[in-house]
Amino acid sequence: MKSVLKGVQLPNGKTTDVTIEGTTIAAIESTSEAGLDCSGLIALPGFVDVHTHLREPGFEASETVLSGSRSAAAGGYTAVLAMANTDPVTDKAEVAELVARLGAESGYCEVQPIGSVTKGLRGAELSDLEGLAKSSAKVRMFSDDGMCVFDESLMREALIRVKAFDGVIAQHSQDPQLTVGAQMNEGPLATELGLKGWPAIAEEAIIKRDAQLALETNSRLHICHLTTAGAVEVVRWAKAKGAKITAEVTPHHLLLTEELVRSYDPVYKVNPPLRRQEDALALQAAVLDGTIDVIGTDHAPHSAEKKQCEWQNAAFGMVGLEHAASVLQQVLIENGGQTWERFAALMSTKPAEIARLTGQGELRVGAVANLALIDPNARRTIQFQTHSRSQNNPFARTVLPGAVVHTIYRGRFTVVNQEVQELNG
Ligand SMILES: [Zn+2]
Repeated sequence: MKSVLKGVQLPNGKTTDVTIEGTTIAAIESTSEAGLDCSGLIALPGFVDVHTHLREPGFEASETVLSGSRSAAAGGYTAVLAMANTDPVTDKAEVAELVARLGAESGYCEVQPIGSVTKGLRGAELSDLEGLAKSSAKVRMFSDDGMCVFDESLMREALIRVKAFDGVIAQHSQDPQLTVGAQMNEGPLATELGLKGWPAIAEEAIIKRDAQLALETNSRLHICHLTTAGAVEVVRWAKAKGAKITAEVTPHHLLLTEELVRSYDPVYKVNPPLRRQEDALALQAAVLDGTIDVIGTDHAPHSAEKKQCEWQNAAFGMVGLEHAASVLQQVLIENGGQTWERFAALMSTKPAEIARLTGQGELRVGAVANLALIDPNARRTIQFQTHSRSQNNPFARTVLPGAVVHTIYRGRFTVVNQEVQELNG
């Protein structure tokens, strides 16, 4: 099968045609052949999310691999890394292979399982890291996300062990002792609202500790969803020291702040919590100056039952796959004046590199045809109703720039004119 994308703009600003043959980018040059009119659209390597909760197995009422990958395709993604806090937990080869197989069957994007660092996410004993790496799912990324690997000696051992197969530990940085019962960011607003506060130090102390472990072990550490100005400082320090550390920020922590909690609407309840305005500004600056490497959505779907209740009883989490690119366009391009090449690095190239995914994050002749075509001039009101099974979207009813018009996964259109396609196997 052959497709020609006519008149696309490349990340470097050049306008040309892209020819796809089978699953491969066959040419990037003007051609006399007819094809799909893509004038005004920017072609980017398909997005890669290093932090997605697909909920299957175990929590299919909130999301399935199929519904989550449709949501991912709608957002321009061609690969997602599926977090391990499922039931059963992805702590052994069988579970990783199941998730990878469900992803392959869905066909909307690559679904690469993340293995848990500890068995059952219990923080007591390491998972079968080598078995997960050797499995057909070829796990390279490990995380207890939702929980912090709090035991320092276990964290150190995990960092040492994954070096053997070029793995990376993705840490959810949250000191559990400092966050017992925490409901929102700690500070005057939490006091005013009568909600238990979540101190910045609970995050920053763990990042600092782990950065030192990464330096000492010379192993790869990825910081999930950092949220505070102080956390940015720690990552900047560790990078200057030469640590193999990468950092991720979510769309919601870039643009939303704790002020929204005043509504007591549980849609704004998230872990880690929404922080102060000055934190959001520090995160935006860190995206612009390269301290933050990637956008990770932390797409965390929850059913209405878990979200439409009192604040105290609601689950933590927000969906994120369908609007992440728009949030980044707002911060990086519209406010920051940066290039689409930087955009591609944050959304595609760097996440693929951190996760060691081949065939993703590339836009060149001979590469796998994984592409997102976006209309940068579109402005749209974000919807509650998504392809996800859940609707806990904090950006619903807000207007953001940009729209994913087409998504192509392995040469096949998963999204055409903003419509997710029905794939037949
Ligand atoms: Zn997390």
